[in-house]
Amino acid sequence: MYSSHVRPWYREEPCKSALNRVAGMPFAWSLNPYMGCVHRCTFCYVRAFERRADRPAGDDYGRTIRVKVNVVHVLCRELARPAWRRELVAIGAATDPYQPAEGHYRLTRGCLEALARARTPLNLITRGPLIVRDIDILRAAAARADVDVSFSIPTLDESVWRRTEPGTAPPRQRLRAVRALADAGIRTSVGMAPILPGISDRPEQLAAVVRAAREAGASHLWGNVVHLRPGTREHFFEHLARDWPEELERYRRLFAGGAYMARRDAEPILSQVARLRAKWGMAERRLASSPPARSSEPEQLALV
Ligand code: SF4
Repeated sequence: MYSSHVRPWYREEPCKSALNRVAGMPFAWSLNPYMGCVHRCTFCYVRAFERRADRPAGDDYGRTIRVKVNVVHVLCRELARPAWRRELVAIGAATDPYQPAEGHYRLTRGCLEALARARTPLNLITRGPLIVRDIDILRAAAARADVDVSFSIPTLDESVWRRTEPGTAPPRQRLRAVRALADAGIRTSVGMAPILPGISDRPEQLAAVVRAAREAGASHLWGNVVHLRPGTREHFFEHLARDWPEELERYRRLFAGGAYMARRDAEPILSQVARLRAKWGMAERRLASSPPARSSEPEQLALV
């Protein structure tokens, strides 16, 4: 029987490199102090990469977390290279950098300190309110280079949150963290993603998130519909069959053509998000641009 309360296993494993070159994204480097994520969202994009790598992508995903215990040391070495060009680094593209392990290991905090010292711009995405612990270092980093924090808050609907994000903090708690960051002068966005058609895309559901994000002090907001690649798709459908069986047919149709919804299906939802953003006077999140790059060590990129 599936239980969401099994204790994860933390595997302390040194890394050879901290920064991963990425291609085709608005940032040149990604940095993930942990691999695997105990939040185990049903829609998690990373499941698809785990399956491709022949690692658990279903209920066992997020049961084992790799802790890159030496990541701060390796990062400092990489940032000290004369060739380092201070290109944008994205933290948390493949795992939540403020999942519970960070309370103990403090690796994300150490990485932020290193990036601040190296005057390197950074973008961090999380669902973890633990980030407020590091407001001091985020402020220091923002004084030296561009810093953008993005909080993923796909919905405020408690029943949707409980069923799709078994391990994350309640959305209202995340909003309090947004407020704390914004009050500290840190540029903070809310990422309303993934939006689930038929489940979290009703106009009043979308409006509630945008309004709450604005009231919490977020200056930017972005939204996107769910993508379901093989690996993520099977797991998500399994949960859909359990929690919203009446939606199964709709999702089979929406994703009959592959991992992405057709433009005609996604567009009305995204237009609604754009209208709400304009209504509440919020900007669309824009990452500082980085020169195009090729990936020498492909790593998962979730941006969830
Ligand atoms: S979507 Fe983000 S927070 Fe959820 S399991 Fe995946 S990496 Fe973790």
